[in-house]
Amino acid sequence: MNKWIVLIVLGCLISCKEEKKTSVKEQNMITEAIEKIILVGQKIAKKTTREAEVIQVRENRRNRLLHLDDEAFVAIRELSDGFVYDIKYATPDNFLKKAVYSCGECYIRGVVAKALIAANMDFNKQGYRIKFYDCYRPLSVQKKMWKIFPNPGYVANPKGGSVHNRGAAVDISLEYMSGKPVDMGSPYDHFGKESRHSYTGFSDRILKNRKILRQGMEKHGFETIRSEWWHYNYPPKHRFKVADFQWSCN
Ligand SMILES: [Zn+2]
Repeated sequence: MNKWIVLIVLGCLISCKEEKKTSVKEQNMITEAIEKIILVGQKIAKKTTREAEVIQVRENRRNRLLHLDDEAFVAIRELSDGFVYDIKYATPDNFLKKAVYSCGECYIRGVVAKALIAANMDFNKQGYRIKFYDCYRPLSVQKKMWKIFPNPGYVANPKGGSVHNRGAAVDISLEYMSGKPVDMGSPYDHFGKESRHSYTGFSDRILKNRKILRQGMEKHGFETIRSEWWHYNYPPKHRFKVADFQWSCN
């Protein structure tokens, strides 16, 4: 609409110019109008480029998903922008009080990534999205954690390697689409009875929140462990090898 107003003003100014000599004031108005037209044109061009880029990114992601190897590790943010991240072990805000990752990233096996994306789409329909606390964890980091805190109640012994080390486990919660966290009753990595699935000492609302998370994940093939509401394994039939690559922090 602005573009047309500017064009009308410009047309009027040009026709007036023919009748009498253009004053400095009129010249300034013409210059201003031309600048506005250029600006509108630039905005339209930028918007079109942005839209084309978004379509291209979506297309790349779709192709990547279609050809994703089940066993290959993938950073899930490269496949979807529908998740949120609060990777606790990349910060001192965890039970170790120490960052053990150089930076926060969520790498996972391809087949697990596909199941997570499907689960997240279902959560989206209910007004939630998945928030990651931890995903694949390199074996050397597991060893580091075991050295700091050698208690099997808190850290899996690196001898056998955990499901996180195999790239088939995630620690997650839900948040509302507004960004507000969903109350799960006890915080991540609280290793008390309150974090067990069997614990019923919370309000109906909190118990319902945990149920939404659990049902949504189980529907897409994930399994729980008894003691941690946040931990989900992708089924043991996908018995992946323990891995130890480190992701890049660039
Ligand atoms: Zn876990």
